[in-house]
Amino acid sequence: MTTRPAPVILWFRRDLRLADNPALNHAAETGRPILPVYIHDMGPGVRRPGAASLWWLDKSLRALDDSLKARGSRLILRSGDSEGELRRLIDETGADAVFMNRLFDPDAFARDADIAHALKEDGVEVKGWNGSLLCRPGGVMTGSGGPYKVFTPFMKALLAKAEAPPHTLGPREIDTPTSVKSEAVDDWSLHPDKPDWSGGFDWTPGEAGASEALSDFLSKGLKTYSVGRDRPGEPGSSRLSPHLHWGELHPWRVVEQVRKAASDGRVPAAEADKFVAELGWRDFSTQLLHHFPRMTDTAFRPEYDAMPWLTDIKGFNAWKKGLTGYPIVDAGMRQLWTTGWMHNRVRMIVASFLVKDLLIDWRKGEAWFWDTLVDADLGNNVQNWQWIAGSSADASPYFRVFNPTTQGAKFDAKGQYVRRWVPEIAALPDKWIHAPWTAPAEVLRDAGIGLGRDYPKPIVDHGEARDRALDALKVVTRSR
Ligand code: FAD
Repeated sequence: MTTRPAPVILWFRRDLRLADNPALNHAAETGRPILPVYIHDMGPGVRRPGAASLWWLDKSLRALDDSLKARGSRLILRSGDSEGELRRLIDETGADAVFMNRLFDPDAFARDADIAHALKEDGVEVKGWNGSLLCRPGGVMTGSGGPYKVFTPFMKALLAKAEAPPHTLGPREIDTPTSVKSEAVDDWSLHPDKPDWSGGFDWTPGEAGASEALSDFLSKGLKTYSVGRDRPGEPGSSRLSPHLHWGELHPWRVVEQVRKAASDGRVPAAEADKFVAELGWRDFSTQLLHHFPRMTDTAFRPEYDAMPWLTDIKGFNAWKKGLTGYPIVDAGMRQLWTTGWMHNRVRMIVASFLVKDLLIDWRKGEAWFWDTLVDADLGNNVQNWQWIAGSSADASPYFRVFNPTTQGAKFDAKGQYVRRWVPEIAALPDKWIHAPWTAPAEVLRDAGIGLGRDYPKPIVDHGEARDRALDALKVVTRSR
């Protein structure tokens, strides 16, 4: 009788795909049976995914299970402490190796290192690869050996050094022992039910959905990306962020396809370069947080922790609900709540409004985004919030206060975006759509709008709020 070789545990986390998956490819190369597992670990230590992320996870796990089934395998689901569940699987199956694609968020990275250390002591082989970034943190460092704190030289160094891994589709057949028990994703209640607020989520999570989103962008938005990415009323950006966050496609595949579109003459090279640079912010943000883990809770530039933030519960609630009286801000916050996503230009405007016009701590905004974004990503979210708050490494200066009215007029000139998300003022002519409080009484009347009744008056005066923010900045400057 021949004994079956011990299986390799393939520990899926935020790499929910079969193509271009280094851990899967290495597991397949061993020629041994593979146990694909996802562990739903909501214990302390690593920041728990927010509600919108869990919505996504629910669908992406089902899609991954379907893809595995098509290759003769399946996804084994377990919930509980990650190390405990891995040990249980090892005991149940005799597995003697755990392969994974690494997570680089500091807490997850430290937890995985502890698990690897403990399992290795017990004779289990534990191996990890980079399957999520163009370059693993530490892969490019400055001349003096430190991490990059400025984006442009970081990206230049990355593009000079990092190379695309070869494109792989993964094994056609995956041999998985049939006897291992799995929990059911339905029992995890990841999809909201009390109430189900996800009716406006228009997404197709999973590897196939990610490929479709990429093809769609290559044939439409990419050719005018540099301008289109700033027009929230038009579909000008890729909407790949949640797919990238959950690892449903490899960022190098995106870069290759975008560059191919340029080399085939389908899009101008400058548009492809612009897109690749934006994608680079993802690597930059993740490596920054990896090297400076305290950034989740404290300002990268410590003097910014002296900022005299206000506790303005009313203002914070108005911001969350999209009832500030500034149409572009309200449109963004409602798009976020309804779809789990917000356009990048508008993210900047609403974030600036929170930390400058309302003088509310960026950490509050970061937490709200964390719960409501389908693409909530620790590195990207924390770095971008600190970028707006002026406290990140390569930040927009705090004194650059976005004016929501002029930003709206510039980037949503025809008011398409605002009219879609703030329908109560849709009948206003373009001239006043971004500043209804400046419209003459008869214009408001003709549009059927009573300010303060159908739509709020501005909760702060932007000019006064800007002066107050600049005064607050003096506290920071003094504490340097
Ligand atoms: P595209 O313009 O098509 O860009 C392609 C990809 O590049 C994106 O999918 C994303 O992975 C990456 N990218 C683009 N811009 C940035 C950026 N500024 N920083 C980091 N990566 C970028 N992005 C997240 O993925 N998760 C977050 O939690 C997140 N929080 C943010 C919070 C604030 C306050 C701000 C201002 C931005 C935040 N971003 C975040 C960055 C950016 O808004 C989104 O990545 C982008 O809007 C996603 O849409 P897209 O895929 O169509 O982008």
